[in-house]
Amino acid sequence: MSPLEEHTSAHREKFIRRIEKQGAKSVFDIPYENYLRTVLWTAIRDWVVESQSGKCAICDHKATEVHHHDYDEATLLGQRSSGLVGLCARCHELIEFDESRTKRESLQDKRAVFEKLASEFGRLKQEGFRVTVESLKLTINLDFVGNEDFLKFIECSSLAYRFIINPSLRREMKFPLPLGREKLQQNSGVVISLRESGKKMAAIKATPTSIQIKLTKTCVYPFEESLRAFLELDPFIKVIQ
Ligand SMILES: [Zn+2]
Repeated sequence: MSPLEEHTSAHREKFIRRIEKQGAKSVFDIPYENYLRTVLWTAIRDWVVESQSGKCAICDHKATEVHHHDYDEATLLGQRSSGLVGLCARCHELIEFDESRTKRESLQDKRAVFEKLASEFGRLKQEGFRVTVESLKLTINLDFVGNEDFLKFIECSSLAYRFIINPSLRREMKFPLPLGREKLQQNSGVVISLRESGKKMAAIKATPTSIQIKLTKTCVYPFEESLRAFLELDPFIKVIQ
């Protein structure tokens, strides 16, 4: 018995007994949405993510979803793991939807996108996501200067988002605007002010290829230092001096 089979064995038996009671002959006879709500699927999903140490199989970010390369019975019943892969939400979306936001139907097409993204990310690991940081009086600019393919994985707007929600900053800041990844992706700005006094410190504006931080004259917080320290923590980002 494979490790996945063993891990899911009790859940599988229960699942089969239950669907048989409902008059279903196989897993294909129950609606897929119902299948996704079963304890069996949860056990399969958790096992797959755990087997990848919680990391997305493409980009190494946190895996939160499991993608099916195959929907055969052995895969759905947790007897075969080769058709399953743990992904982050972003990579999963890139696989499931094309550029015009239309869902890909063919498993073969999806598999091809998976392979392409995985190989591109392999290259990203080698070359790194290259950025420059420039400081001009009260403005700090960070610009992406690498292969545009890599923006699929780490664009500046998501970097800005991660920078802003960085826990070491959060202790001292509050965010008066509703903050979300989508918002940053729409090229809009976020205002950062001090939690205690409400004094405005900086405005951060991000586009897919740049982050601009405009400090107010009253700001004494070392934003540039914090930004550089934050960038150094990411193994795939290389700051070009
Ligand atoms: Zn990913």
